[in-house]
Amino acid sequence: MSWEKEGKEGSLLKWYDIMEAEKYEYTVGPAGERFFQGLKENKIIGSKCKKCGKVYLPPRIYCEDCFTKIEEYVELKLDDAYLDSFTTIYQDDDGQKLAEPVHIGLLRFKGVNGGLFCYLEGTPKKGGRIRVSNFNYPLRISIE
Ligand SMILES: [Zn+2]
Repeated sequence: MSWEKEGKEGSLLKWYDIMEAEKYEYTVGPAGERFFQGLKENKIIGSKCKKCGKVYLPPRIYCEDCFTKIEEYVELKLDDAYLDSFTTIYQDDDGQKLAEPVHIGLLRFKGVNGGLFCYLEGTPKKGGRIRVSNFNYPLRISIE
C-alpha cells in the first residue's frame, strides 16, 4: 500500500511563527490521567475498544485498528504480565561507568497491545511471576 501524495517537496503547506515560551508543559490527556490515577491506586490501567475488543497499554482514546473512540478502561492483571525483553546499561550518558548496572525491561500483558518500560530489580530473566515493588512511573518490577 502506498500513500497518494499531491504537491512537491518544498511546496507543502507551512507557516513561520515565533514561539515565545521559556517553559511549557504537556498534559497527559484523558487516557493518561486514568493511567496515572491507576498507578496511585497500585493498578495498571489499559483502555479497551468496544468495537474490536483490542486492549491498549498505555491506554489511548482511539483504536488504531478500527478508528473507534475508546471510552472503556480496564484494570490489567499482573497474572497476565510478562517480561518481553530487557537490556542492561553499564554507562551513563557521558560514557562513564555506572557504579551498578541498570536493567530496563519491557513489561507486557497477554492479549494487550503495547507495554511499559520498567526498571528491573534483581537479576533480570524472562519468565516467572511479575511483582511490582513501586508503582511510581517508571515502574520498578522484579521477577520471582
Ligand atoms: Zn477497535
